[in-house]
Amino acid sequence: MQYSVLVGVYEQLEATSKRLEKTFILSEFLKSADNLDKVVLLVQGRVFPNWDQRELGMAAKLLVKALSLATGAALDKIESVWKETGDIGTVALELTKKKSQATLFSQPLSVQKVFDNLQKIPELEGLGSVDRKVQLVAELLTSASPVEAKYIIRTILGELRVGLGEGTVRDAIVWAFFGDKAGVKYDKATNELDLSDDERMNYDKYVVLVQEALDVVNDFGEVAKIAKEGGDLLNVSLKIGKPVKVMLFKKAKDIKDGFENVGKPAACEFKYDGFRLQIHKFAKIRLFTRRLEDVTAQFPDVVQRIAKNVKGDCIIDAEVVGIEKGKYLPFQSISQRIKRKYDIEEMSRKFPVEVNVFDVLFCDGKNLLKMPFIERRKILEKIIIQVPFEIKLAEEIITDDESVAEKFYRSSLLAGNEGMMMKNLQGIYKPGSRVGFGMKVKPTMDTLEVVIVGAERGEGKRGQWLASFVVAVRDPETGEFVEVGRVGTGIKEKVEEGVSFEQLTQLLQPLIIEEKGREVKVKPEIVIEVDYEEIQKSPTYSSGFALRFPRLVKLREDRSPEDINTVDDIRDLAESQRGRGELK
Ligand code: AMP
Repeated sequence: MQYSVLVGVYEQLEATSKRLEKTFILSEFLKSADNLDKVVLLVQGRVFPNWDQRELGMAAKLLVKALSLATGAALDKIESVWKETGDIGTVALELTKKKSQATLFSQPLSVQKVFDNLQKIPELEGLGSVDRKVQLVAELLTSASPVEAKYIIRTILGELRVGLGEGTVRDAIVWAFFGDKAGVKYDKATNELDLSDDERMNYDKYVVLVQEALDVVNDFGEVAKIAKEGGDLLNVSLKIGKPVKVMLFKKAKDIKDGFENVGKPAACEFKYDGFRLQIHKFAKIRLFTRRLEDVTAQFPDVVQRIAKNVKGDCIIDAEVVGIEKGKYLPFQSISQRIKRKYDIEEMSRKFPVEVNVFDVLFCDGKNLLKMPFIERRKILEKIIIQVPFEIKLAEEIITDDESVAEKFYRSSLLAGNEGMMMKNLQGIYKPGSRVGFGMKVKPTMDTLEVVIVGAERGEGKRGQWLASFVVAVRDPETGEFVEVGRVGTGIKEKVEEGVSFEQLTQLLQPLIIEEKGREVKVKPEIVIEVDYEEIQKSPTYSSGFALRFPRLVKLREDRSPEDINTVDDIRDLAESQRGRGELK
């Protein structure tokens, strides 16, 4: 397939803000697309599936170089046009327009070629690799038409801007391959999916089917292919070595509310304040964070323990906690181990961790996702050899008595934990969702997890840093991020004092996708936890709300932008303030 066909779809998607219309456009395209697995990734601006760790990792500055190589325009000229328009994709479009008048005989670009060149980028390492990467991009840009160049650049930056959330791609797979069975009746003229209540229930069944398959295999391309070929989505297989989305938990108001949700009796467990690891043990051992990043190299101590103390091949879910003199440490004390690239052995001596295993998804060739929690726990008891301060099963009691649960909760807090988990004994393991088979109970703290989407360069003594940060929450409807405020406090001047301007600047610099004057826009990747004084309604930010006096509390390297608070949470919090007469 020619890349221009895909670009035509990008343009149609970009031209409408209506979610149903986007679903329709995409589903029609998917029905007829060849290279389906690749195309489904490319429409999302990806060249690797969600479970795959590889990233293109090319900063905007390198793209400027590639553009210069492909078009012959001078570097400083490209940079100045970029600063003016703010969008390097548009710069590519303009420059390629000029060039393409001169070279009329270039080969048309194929989807395969774009895909291949982009996939090669992360493979290049070592001396001369930066130039080779630039060449791979320049090669594409040389044969690209102006709009093709725009979307190639945007794909590499990971900012396609066609407004396509994962939910829409999922629905498009349903429309394309289960359209009749799911009774999809889209009326283009009214932009409505006209379904009766019964029809809606049937339709939702297919949406859930596709979503659940996605949660297990984490690969839109693979799921689309299975759906097209009429394969069994209900029983897509867990693959050891390929991370599965982790199950998430809802928040209980208190212990009584917890029991109401998970039923009685329930399993109550310590809620450790560390970070989650999905551990795959087979011929090799692989460790994945909750964001499904491979952190095997960072935790040789954990790998060694798993090899020694876990029997058989399995996928287990665990919380890794910092521990010092038998007492648990808060998450921040070990968070630096997650991204560490050097001195790893020293770090594991300096910041020892205890592995607390709380679930099992796969064991000795069997997929356990649909097995009740109480049975899964029994399997854990058989396969884990517990060694104090090294590897344990999560501390657990089973009770139907609120006062017993309350006592257990207190003892968990006293041991330095974050709170308590309450789990439904019959609950299955549902990857990727907050279904309420587990509830967390913790002392209320009104912090929010938000993602940084922009920043302003500082002035005076903060001149070389980014100094104020635009933060956003997720809109679950569209999958996009909507702004809720600007954070400038809680960030330190000196690196030794905590999260500093310098550290944030270093993290964000490679993520810059737009620059205008002192303002930059960044790819939404860095998650922070903030507190605030109150939430106000505000037209200034795209969420319609503004956090008043937000302050950075922590950097949340363990969180991905998909995990953060949503605009619905903000609305709920604003509502609950209103009860107290505080919403201005
Ligand atoms: P939260 O991060 O507040 O959404 O709480 C859920 C997280 O608590 C999980 O993702 C785990 O990382 C962590 N956790 C700690 N202890 C447990 C436990 N016993 N069972 C399940 N999750 C736990």
